[in-house]
Amino acid sequence: MKRIYNFSAGPAVLPEEVLREAAEEMLDYKGCGMSVMEMSHRSKEFESIIHEAEQDLRDLLSIPANYKVLFLQGGAHLQFSMLPLNLAKNGVADYIITGHWAKRAYTEAKKFVKANAIASSEDKTFSYIPDCSDLPISEDADYVYICENNTIYGTKFHTLPNTKGKTLVADVSSCFLSEPMDVSKYGVIYGGAQKNIGPAGVVVAIIREDLIPDEVAPTVPTMLQFKTHADNDSLYNTPPCYGIYICGKVFKWLKKQGGLAAMRTINEKKAAILYNYLDSSRMFHGTVEKASRSLMNVPFVTGDADIDAKFIKEATAAGFANLKGHRSVGGMRASIYNAMPVEGVQALVDFMTRFEAENS
Ligand SMILES: *Cc1c(COP(=O)(O)O)cnc(C)c1O
Repeated sequence: MKRIYNFSAGPAVLPEEVLREAAEEMLDYKGCGMSVMEMSHRSKEFESIIHEAEQDLRDLLSIPANYKVLFLQGGAHLQFSMLPLNLAKNGVADYIITGHWAKRAYTEAKKFVKANAIASSEDKTFSYIPDCSDLPISEDADYVYICENNTIYGTKFHTLPNTKGKTLVADVSSCFLSEPMDVSKYGVIYGGAQKNIGPAGVVVAIIREDLIPDEVAPTVPTMLQFKTHADNDSLYNTPPCYGIYICGKVFKWLKKQGGLAAMRTINEKKAAILYNYLDSSRMFHGTVEKASRSLMNVPFVTGDADIDAKFIKEATAAGFANLKGHRSVGGMRASIYNAMPVEGVQALVDFMTRFEAENS
């Protein structure tokens, strides 16, 4: 068996320790004679799996008691619809457009509410986070929406926007649990698990209770109402059981690493190794304004498509997988999520240094 360094943006690398534990428990979960995939979601065993996963997540993020934690399905994409369908009282929402996923969310919201794009960084190919200290927030906005970490472009909000008192909603898919965050500053935080916290199929949403409406338009499907899932502790219907189980193991692993403050230190160290090299290299260059750089997704280019292709090919052969940039930007991207060890990033930089020497 050989594990390689996987820089995929998602589904992405998971902690090896978590995978080993899951493998050990595959045929017989804690003496019950079956795998977690085979057990009832109403069983005592699964109830404690989902309950512990929620509690560990609450501990990691210090989630205040007046927030619900929901384990949902449908990917981050379904939240693009669920958010406007559930949060719109006035039918108005403001969106800050910092990349592909924010734009998708905005476009979807337009189906249901009056969505306004109040800021954008599209003028420079989304290579920066716009100044959000004094935006034209709509007076009747039900919420202000951001994509906090832009997976494709490699930017992150290091300062949250001034929402002028309006509810902040954030897609944190690709920075979830990468560093501490103050949950009380948000109305809703949500993310697909497959970037930084688990396998595809689970979406975690953390929602302030007073934002969960008792009533929504009668045509909103039951499954798309936050209340349905909140009232039933994410067990209204069959949840993505196995995915929740793996997320729970990742949460325990994060606690063992020292929690999110410790993860931030490690993630800053990994990002610095790569960014410092990019800043000193004469061949490879980062594509993002320094002040907006993400700790998780690092896009870079050589400026020559043939050299990019040669690099990706040789890197793949050397055991560095999934370094190709998103099809909309080209070049390369290294996603260095929580489960990517420091040695993986160092090995990549060593490889890039050799490649640069051999090809210039
Ligand atoms: C990957 C990603 C999405 C889309 O996730 P799906 O689970 O495929 O719907 C949305 N937002 C961000 C920030 C992402 O990284």
